[in-house]
Amino acid sequence: MNFNSFRKEIVSNNASVKELVNDIFAKIDHKDPEINSYICTTKDSAISQAEKIDKLIQNNEDLPPLAGIPIAVKDNICTKGVATTCASKMLKNFVAPYEATASSKLWSSGGICLGKTNLDEFAMGSSTETSLFGVTSNPWDINRVPGGSSGGSAASVAAGFCAAALGSDTGGSIRQPASFCGVVGLKPTYGRVSRWGLVAFASSLDQIGPITNNVSDAAEILYSISGKDPFDSTCLDKTVPNYLADLNKSIKGLKIGIIKECFEHPGLNSEVKESVLSGVDRFKTLGAEIIEVECPRFNDGIATYYVIAPSEASANLARYDGVKYGYRSNDGLNLIDMTSKSRAEGFGDEVQRRILIGTYALSAGYTDAYYKKAQKVRTLIRNDFDNAFKKVDLLLTPTCPTTAFLKGDFINDPLSMYLSDLLTVPVNLAGLPAISIPCGFDTKGLPVGMQLIGNVLEEDRILNAANIFEIDAQVIKNRPVF
Ligand code: GLN
Repeated sequence: MNFNSFRKEIVSNNASVKELVNDIFAKIDHKDPEINSYICTTKDSAISQAEKIDKLIQNNEDLPPLAGIPIAVKDNICTKGVATTCASKMLKNFVAPYEATASSKLWSSGGICLGKTNLDEFAMGSSTETSLFGVTSNPWDINRVPGGSSGGSAASVAAGFCAAALGSDTGGSIRQPASFCGVVGLKPTYGRVSRWGLVAFASSLDQIGPITNNVSDAAEILYSISGKDPFDSTCLDKTVPNYLADLNKSIKGLKIGIIKECFEHPGLNSEVKESVLSGVDRFKTLGAEIIEVECPRFNDGIATYYVIAPSEASANLARYDGVKYGYRSNDGLNLIDMTSKSRAEGFGDEVQRRILIGTYALSAGYTDAYYKKAQKVRTLIRNDFDNAFKKVDLLLTPTCPTTAFLKGDFINDPLSMYLSDLLTVPVNLAGLPAISIPCGFDTKGLPVGMQLIGNVLEEDRILNAANIFEIDAQVIKNRPVF
């Protein structure tokens, strides 16, 4: 259910917003136990919001841009008065006392909050298997993972349990699950969207962004949530363009760079490669010029990311000490004992692994060898992109090396799990915007995602190319029915 079909129902008076929202909750009640995309729903407030929009419609008043659009929010984004758990025992009982800037912008644009979606604990993961609230299933095949960490958001959009969802992307957590679930996921330029109210994982990489059914819905959400925020000093003071304005512009002559290193990587599944390359052919027939480019450091992204992200995580997660908020162990003998027991009992294995790696990489004697080295490689990765953008307007890669894998495949093999982020992390390290859109299917019938990467603040260009592709290719004709 994309925004326009939702709006058609309302405008044609087929249904009130309240009826439509009620229908979605009925679907969630009936079918989400199978998918487990929501951690909690906020039905009462959603219905009263829907009634307010219905009143505006009845009185023929001006409607805000997202009037009545039912939206889900990843549960690491603070929602005032609603539990914000990060899918962790540590924050199981934490009720956010304030609203994140990105979500509050959606609500003031008329969007309706349906609830909070499942994720890997503290957004660390690629499969939504490390959640305190259980694994989320992929709507295309419930034996498979939806990707992660925004797996609940992507699965809920794919299953029709909301019209759009917010996710967060530190190393691929919007784009990878969007790719696995056959939906659209956009990671904005670092600083385009405020991080105020996003529970910090790795602050120099984290960004909030939309997961939607189609490209134009992603453009609408991005427009709504972008812009300067006095509460986040890393948020850019740059005008927000109307991302819908140029969506249908011709892409004749657009220069699209194919990153050589991605397509040559031995870990890239051959069916994914084939499907993405047929997408490249389609771009050619649409008038784009395809140019091969080199980004020699691209494949060093994973090693670099898995030093920098855990380092920042170890600093950010130091705040969970059992004193101020979050889980507190009952059997601590003294302050230090209580703090360490609270952390050992409150954080799951993967979160503890990241804290250990990060603390090690930042410790005296190792920081030069690991953290500072990684920061230097990060600069080289960014330089590669800068050089590529001297020759082309956009870059194109697969979003992930594979399609959705089976539950349990990698949960005990963290290094293989980390490789799922191979093609997405370099973008975060460089602070660039990128989208994942469906470009085909593998022989198992699972969706394949294609990634378009833009230069800093060139979301409009990405959205334009993605939209033209989406309309021409019509990849997703039928979604899984729930
Ligand atoms: N899968 C990556 C990780 O585990 C990315 C996570 C994210 O983007 N939040 O770190």
